[in-house]
Amino acid sequence: MDYILETIDVGQVVGDQMFSRRCQELLHDALGVSKALVTTSCTHALEMAMILLCLKEGDEVILPSFTFVSTANAFVLRGAKPVFCDIRPDTLNLNETEIEALITPRTKAIVPVHYAGVGCEMDAIMAIGDRHGVAVIEDNAHGLFGKFKGRWLGTFGQLATQSFHETKNITCGEGGALLINDPQYEERAEIIREKGTNRARFFRGQVDKYSWVDVGSSYVMSDVLAAFLYGQLEQWESIQAKRKAIWERYDEALGDWAEGRCIGRPIVPNHCEQAYHMYYLLMPSLEARTAFIEHLAKNGIEAVFHYLPLNKSAYALQMADSGWRRAECPVTEDVSNRLVRLPFYTSLMEEKQRRVIDSVLSWTA
Ligand SMILES: *Cc1c(COP(=O)(O)O)cnc(C)c1O
Repeated sequence: MDYILETIDVGQVVGDQMFSRRCQELLHDALGVSKALVTTSCTHALEMAMILLCLKEGDEVILPSFTFVSTANAFVLRGAKPVFCDIRPDTLNLNETEIEALITPRTKAIVPVHYAGVGCEMDAIMAIGDRHGVAVIEDNAHGLFGKFKGRWLGTFGQLATQSFHETKNITCGEGGALLINDPQYEERAEIIREKGTNRARFFRGQVDKYSWVDVGSSYVMSDVLAAFLYGQLEQWESIQAKRKAIWERYDEALGDWAEGRCIGRPIVPNHCEQAYHMYYLLMPSLEARTAFIEHLAKNGIEAVFHYLPLNKSAYALQMADSGWRRAECPVTEDVSNRLVRLPFYTSLMEEKQRRVIDSVLSWTA
């Protein structure tokens, strides 16, 4: 609240003021990226990434079918086609062994999503990108402050995107960031974000007037939101520590119960330090999941599921008639029927979590 009031007191509520710069510096210093730019959303950061890659009609982008729709929309808006790839049955991340078979001369990008904040197999994915001259854009909406083999998620791809939506670990309600790891994109990213103008260079005194120099849109975050965000980012270590404790409490309390009932729990490989974005269970069947969610609802607990496979969405089926490749993603379709997320948020108190755990353990089907 102090930071938000400060922006109003000093009359700097527009974007790219003190708090936006502080957020960007913090992300830059903590992660070691070449540049971080706060944006209006992760969806918009993905759109910026696709403009930066000069994506055009007919280009193809490989992404998991098991993800939020924004991962796809950002490049579909530019006329590119999504090529849906299945996920690994263990981490539910893009299955790196199935990517190469999907690459064609039209492939422009691979978009891995670090599902639940557990890193994709980035060694293999970056090697495929390099081998075929295809960019890798990490959708790191779940994975901020997670690591793969000791390296921060969001620092592997040429570009990466963050979300600060209310549902994410670090939030300002609605917001995002573009992380730039390949410096060749820095200058143009600033221009695209500022409606296609070189306003950022003008304010740094590098040009004597600013004008329209490229395509762009309005992707700058208000400093009021950046002030909210900075209050969160400053405390990222304690936020992550709280989420780690919640995650571990679930996992310890539910381990034996789940194993005895063939219910799957999240799998985190040893070389991944996860970002503790969510806790999910994989029920034995769709019927079991439906009954389980009803059981929890009777106890006043809201458990939700996601994602519906994008390759089977109404839009993808409609677009298959106009040239999108049809995809079979059996693991995605199976997981989508069986996954359920338990209540998981930073301020979840131990007592409340105990009640969730007791309700889960009282399920007898
Ligand atoms: C939340 C989310 C997004 C979209 O984030 P916004 O900031 O709401 O645009 C994109 N991708 C994934 C994987 C997400 O979970």
